Amino acid sequence: MNPACLAIKAYHVPQEGCKIKLNQNESPYDVPTQIKERVFKTLGRAPWNRYPPLETKELLDRIADYAGFSARGTVIGNSSNEIIQTILLATCEPGAKMVVVEPGFSIYARLGRILGRDVQTVSLGKDFRHEPDAIIAAAQGARLVMLASPNNPTGTILEIPQIEAIARSIRGYLAVDEAYHEFSGQTCLPLVEKYKRLMVIRTFSKAFGLAGIRLGYLLARPEIAAVMAKVKLPFSVGIFPPAAASEMLGKPEYIRQTVETIIREREKLMRGLDKIKGVKPIPSRTNFILFKTRGQSAHRVFNGLRKKGVLVRNFDIPTLQDWLRVTVGRPGENEIFLKKLKAVLEER
Ligand code: PMP
Repeated sequence: MNPACLAIKAYHVPQEGCKIKLNQNESPYDVPTQIKERVFKTLGRAPWNRYPPLETKELLDRIADYAGFSARGTVIGNSSNEIIQTILLATCEPGAKMVVVEPGFSIYARLGRILGRDVQTVSLGKDFRHEPDAIIAAAQGARLVMLASPNNPTGTILEIPQIEAIARSIRGYLAVDEAYHEFSGQTCLPLVEKYKRLMVIRTFSKAFGLAGIRLGYLLARPEIAAVMAKVKLPFSVGIFPPAAASEMLGKPEYIRQTVETIIREREKLMRGLDKIKGVKPIPSRTNFILFKTRGQSAHRVFNGLRKKGVLVRNFDIPTLQDWLRVTVGRPGENEIFLKKLKAVLEER
């Protein structure tokens, strides 16, 4: 066995049967039944005995159109996790240095270690803000810098000039994961024209509410996209994800309204958390909020909420020992969460 695989802990997210599930940054809104039925119809006509098409031009055109980018620079994958893995395989050979931030999306470092890359972590600064100078310094000699903006689990962003400063200053590739960009109102995609080693990672799991479908994509220069398409496993995307994503891409107004509702609810949730004594939330540009409960262990608060039927996300990494993350749910769910949190904090 690869020793790195034996050393690594299994990826685990507690999933007790809580009624209110606010632990995985999913959309609280399931796909409308009419849309599901249209997808079923398409799938009913498709042959299931054949491999899915290798060329997915129609979907690439639709995604590129949505993103305002070229289809030749677009690559789809079985979730953005697969895109992340493909970038690690394609840009870094074993032993090559890659840079990530801490706390950040754990999959980057995890995959990097499994693949034997030299993973260097840079700490975020005060209130989990990125420090571009520290990232640039760490990126000396690195093949790849992989960052999420907005970042998970902090909800914080790199401003576009900060991303540009990093892109300008480093010699390796820069992958910016924009899984939550719809909630942030910003994208660094226009910079791809100027910086040829910049790549943007996206997913259908968040704003589009398709986490169960597993579809992600990469936006990059056509020459980079061509390498990624070669490295990715053939046929990794089945016939279901393109059918579902195409239907959702045909409903931009629905997506826009859903995102607006989630942003509105996020701000309400933020105000609610701010009002609870001893709770410190970090302002977020995503569909979740990281918060700290002063004087109370996150472990106790997590279990207290769980017993009251509300599941949030806890962390077993040193930098997030005192913190919990709550995903923005439906309005009623958010209200119950705030009420139960207050109750847990009062029970001493
Ligand atoms: N990137 C970031 C920053 C994430 O938070 C997540 C999901 N939690 C992903 C990528 C993975 O998304 P998916 O594999 O569902 O596309």
